Amino acid sequence: MDYFAQPVAKLIEEFAKLPGIGKKTAQRLAFHVLNMNTSDANSLARSIVEAKKNIKYCSNCYNLTDIDPCRICANKKRDESIICVIEDPKDIVAMERTRDYNGLYHVLHGSISPMEGIGPEEIKIKELLHRLQGDTVKEIILATNPNIEGEATAMYIGKLVKPMGVKTTRIAHGIPVGGDLEYADEVTLSKALEGRREF
Ligand SMILES: [Zn+2]
Repeated sequence: MDYFAQPVAKLIEEFAKLPGIGKKTAQRLAFHVLNMNTSDANSLARSIVEAKKNIKYCSNCYNLTDIDPCRICANKKRDESIICVIEDPKDIVAMERTRDYNGLYHVLHGSISPMEGIGPEEIKIKELLHRLQGDTVKEIILATNPNIEGEATAMYIGKLVKPMGVKTTRIAHGIPVGGDLEYADEVTLSKALEGRREF
Protein backbone atom coordinates (compact mmCIF):
# COMPACT_ATOMS: atom_id res chain seq x y z
CA MET A 1 0.00 0.00 0.00
CA ASP A 2 3.09 2.23 -0.07
CA TYR A 3 2.14 3.52 -3.52
CA PHE A 4 -0.82 5.41 -2.09
CA ALA A 5 -0.97 8.52 0.07
CA GLN A 6 -2.12 7.51 3.53
CA PRO A 7 -5.73 8.86 3.25
CA VAL A 8 -6.17 7.05 -0.08
CA ALA A 9 -4.78 3.82 1.37
CA LYS A 10 -7.22 4.15 4.26
CA LEU A 11 -10.18 4.66 1.89
CA ILE A 12 -9.16 1.59 -0.15
CA GLU A 13 -8.82 -0.41 3.04
CA GLU A 14 -12.35 0.58 4.16
CA PHE A 15 -13.92 -0.29 0.80
CA ALA A 16 -12.12 -3.64 0.82
CA LYS A 17 -13.96 -4.55 4.05
CA LEU A 18 -17.32 -4.50 2.21
CA PRO A 19 -18.82 -7.83 1.10
CA GLY A 20 -17.88 -8.89 -2.42
CA ILE A 21 -15.30 -6.11 -2.83
CA GLY A 22 -11.80 -7.28 -3.67
CA LYS A 23 -8.67 -5.14 -3.61
CA LYS A 24 -8.94 -4.10 -7.27
CA THR A 25 -12.57 -3.01 -6.91
CA ALA A 26 -11.75 -1.21 -3.65
CA GLN A 27 -9.09 0.79 -5.49
CA ARG A 28 -11.50 1.63 -8.30
CA LEU A 29 -14.15 2.80 -5.82
CA ALA A 30 -11.63 4.89 -3.88
CA PHE A 31 -10.45 6.65 -7.02
CA HIS A 32 -14.04 7.16 -8.09
CA VAL A 33 -14.79 8.88 -4.79
CA LEU A 34 -11.68 11.06 -5.16
CA ASN A 35 -12.92 12.15 -8.58
CA MET A 36 -16.36 13.07 -7.26
CA ASN A 37 -17.17 16.70 -6.64
CA THR A 38 -17.08 17.70 -2.96
CA SER A 39 -20.85 17.92 -2.58
CA ASP A 40 -21.43 14.36 -3.91
CA ALA A 41 -18.66 12.99 -1.71
CA ASN A 42 -20.16 14.75 1.33
CA SER A 43 -23.60 13.42 0.50
CA LEU A 44 -22.24 9.85 0.29
CA ALA A 45 -20.46 10.16 3.63
CA ARG A 46 -23.52 11.74 5.24
CA SER A 47 -25.88 9.00 3.97
CA ILE A 48 -23.72 6.35 5.63
CA VAL A 49 -23.64 8.20 8.95
CA GLU A 50 -27.39 9.04 8.84
CA ALA A 51 -28.46 5.50 7.93
CA LYS A 52 -26.33 4.10 10.71
CA LYS A 53 -27.70 6.63 13.20
CA ASN A 54 -31.40 6.43 12.32
CA ILE A 55 -31.99 2.80 11.42
CA LYS A 56 -32.95 0.44 14.22
CA TYR A 57 -34.91 -2.79 14.62
CA CYS A 58 -38.72 -2.73 14.64
CA SER A 59 -39.69 -3.79 18.16
CA ASN A 60 -42.37 -6.09 16.70
CA CYS A 61 -40.87 -7.84 13.65
CA TYR A 62 -37.14 -6.90 13.91
CA ASN A 63 -37.07 -5.49 10.41
CA LEU A 64 -34.71 -2.53 9.89
CA THR A 65 -36.67 0.69 10.22
CA ASP A 66 -36.45 4.41 10.95
CA ILE A 67 -39.84 4.41 12.72
CA ASP A 68 -41.11 1.99 15.35
CA PRO A 69 -43.22 -0.03 14.64
CA CYS A 70 -42.02 -0.30 11.05
CA ARG A 71 -44.22 0.67 8.08
CA ILE A 72 -45.29 -2.92 7.45
CA CYS A 73 -46.29 -3.61 11.07
CA ALA A 74 -48.08 -0.23 11.27
CA ASN A 75 -50.05 -0.79 8.04
CA LYS A 76 -53.64 -1.59 9.03
CA LYS A 77 -54.34 -3.08 5.60
CA ARG A 78 -51.96 -5.95 6.24
CA ASP A 79 -53.20 -9.28 7.52
CA GLU A 80 -51.87 -9.61 11.06
CA SER A 81 -53.10 -13.19 11.38
CA ILE A 82 -50.19 -14.45 9.31
CA ILE A 83 -46.44 -14.08 9.89
CA CYS A 84 -43.75 -14.97 7.38
CA VAL A 85 -40.54 -15.95 9.19
CA ILE A 86 -37.34 -15.05 7.37
CA GLU A 87 -33.63 -14.96 8.16
CA ASP A 88 -32.61 -11.52 6.94
CA PRO A 89 -34.22 -8.09 6.37
CA LYS A 90 -33.20 -8.44 2.70
CA ASP A 91 -35.64 -11.35 2.39
CA ILE A 92 -38.54 -8.95 3.09
CA VAL A 93 -37.63 -7.02 -0.03
CA ALA A 94 -37.66 -10.27 -2.04
CA MET A 95 -41.05 -11.29 -0.63
CA GLU A 96 -42.58 -7.83 -1.11
CA ARG A 97 -41.48 -7.83 -4.75
CA THR A 98 -43.77 -10.78 -5.45
CA ARG A 99 -46.79 -8.64 -4.40
CA ASP A 100 -48.48 -11.91 -3.43
CA TYR A 101 -48.02 -11.59 0.31
CA ASN A 102 -50.00 -9.28 2.54
CA GLY A 103 -49.21 -10.60 6.00
CA LEU A 104 -46.57 -9.51 8.51
CA TYR A 105 -42.97 -10.67 8.90
CA HIS A 106 -40.59 -11.82 11.56
CA VAL A 107 -36.86 -11.41 10.96
CA LEU A 108 -34.74 -13.99 12.78
CA HIS A 109 -31.41 -12.30 12.00
CA GLY A 110 -29.67 -15.54 11.19
CA SER A 111 -30.24 -19.26 11.29
CA ILE A 112 -29.30 -22.03 13.67
CA SER A 113 -25.80 -23.22 12.80
CA PRO A 114 -24.01 -25.52 15.24
CA MET A 115 -20.94 -25.34 12.96
CA GLU A 116 -20.68 -21.60 13.56
CA GLY A 117 -21.80 -21.87 17.16
CA ILE A 118 -25.14 -20.14 16.53
CA GLY A 119 -27.83 -21.65 18.72
CA PRO A 120 -31.58 -20.87 18.93
CA GLU A 121 -30.92 -18.22 21.61
CA GLU A 122 -28.71 -16.23 19.25
CA ILE A 123 -31.55 -15.51 16.81
CA LYS A 124 -34.99 -13.94 17.35
CA ILE A 125 -36.96 -17.14 18.09
CA LYS A 126 -38.02 -16.18 21.63
CA GLU A 127 -39.37 -12.94 20.21
CA LEU A 128 -41.36 -14.89 17.59
CA LEU A 129 -42.92 -17.16 20.22
CA HIS A 130 -43.85 -14.06 22.18
CA ARG A 131 -45.81 -12.75 19.18
CA LEU A 132 -47.78 -15.98 18.97
CA GLN A 133 -49.28 -15.50 22.45
CA GLY A 134 -52.96 -14.62 22.18
CA ASP A 135 -55.29 -15.43 19.26
CA THR A 136 -54.23 -12.93 16.63
CA VAL A 137 -51.75 -15.08 14.70
CA LYS A 138 -53.31 -18.08 12.93
CA GLU A 139 -50.48 -19.11 10.64
CA ILE A 140 -46.72 -18.79 10.32
CA ILE A 141 -44.91 -19.41 7.04
CA LEU A 142 -41.36 -20.66 7.53
CA ALA A 143 -39.44 -19.00 4.72
CA THR A 144 -35.89 -19.63 5.95
CA ASN A 145 -33.32 -20.45 3.26
CA PRO A 146 -33.37 -23.88 1.59
CA ASN A 147 -29.96 -24.90 2.97
CA ILE A 148 -28.98 -27.07 5.95
CA GLU A 149 -29.11 -24.21 8.46
CA GLY A 150 -32.41 -22.85 7.11
CA GLU A 151 -34.03 -26.29 7.18
CA ALA A 152 -32.79 -26.94 10.73
CA THR A 153 -34.14 -23.57 11.85
CA ALA A 154 -37.53 -24.19 10.21
CA MET A 155 -37.75 -27.62 11.83
CA TYR A 156 -36.80 -26.26 15.25
CA ILE A 157 -39.40 -23.48 15.10
CA GLY A 158 -42.04 -25.84 13.67
CA LYS A 159 -41.66 -28.16 16.64
CA LEU A 160 -42.08 -25.31 19.13
CA VAL A 161 -45.03 -23.70 17.37
CA LYS A 162 -47.20 -26.72 16.52
CA PRO A 163 -48.32 -27.36 20.12
CA MET A 164 -49.42 -23.70 20.32
CA GLY A 165 -52.20 -24.41 17.81
CA VAL A 166 -50.79 -22.09 15.15
CA LYS A 167 -50.83 -23.47 11.59
CA THR A 168 -47.23 -23.86 10.40
CA THR A 169 -46.30 -24.01 6.73
CA ARG A 170 -42.96 -24.13 4.91
CA ILE A 171 -42.48 -22.46 1.55
CA ALA A 172 -41.90 -24.93 -1.27
CA HIS A 173 -38.46 -24.83 -2.84
CA GLY A 174 -37.71 -26.20 -6.22
CA ILE A 175 -36.59 -25.68 -9.75
CA PRO A 176 -36.15 -21.98 -10.53
CA VAL A 177 -38.31 -20.61 -13.33
CA GLY A 178 -36.29 -20.95 -16.53
CA GLY A 179 -34.23 -23.71 -14.92
CA ASP A 180 -33.59 -27.04 -16.57
CA LEU A 181 -34.57 -30.27 -14.80
CA GLU A 182 -31.48 -31.93 -16.16
CA TYR A 183 -29.19 -29.54 -14.26
CA ALA A 184 -31.02 -29.46 -10.95
CA ASP A 185 -29.14 -31.08 -8.08
CA GLU A 186 -30.81 -33.88 -6.10
CA VAL A 187 -31.67 -31.73 -3.07
CA THR A 188 -33.41 -29.14 -5.23
CA LEU A 189 -35.23 -31.79 -7.21
CA SER A 190 -36.37 -33.73 -4.15
CA LYS A 191 -37.56 -30.45 -2.53
CA ALA A 192 -39.44 -29.63 -5.74
CA LEU A 193 -41.13 -33.03 -5.63
CA GLU A 194 -41.97 -32.61 -1.97
CA GLY A 195 -43.55 -29.20 -2.61
CA ARG A 196 -45.68 -30.42 -5.52
CA ARG A 197 -49.32 -29.45 -5.59
CA GLU A 198 -52.40 -30.56 -7.45
CA PHE A 199 -52.49 -29.51 -11.07
ZN1 LIG B 1 -42.18 -4.34 12.03
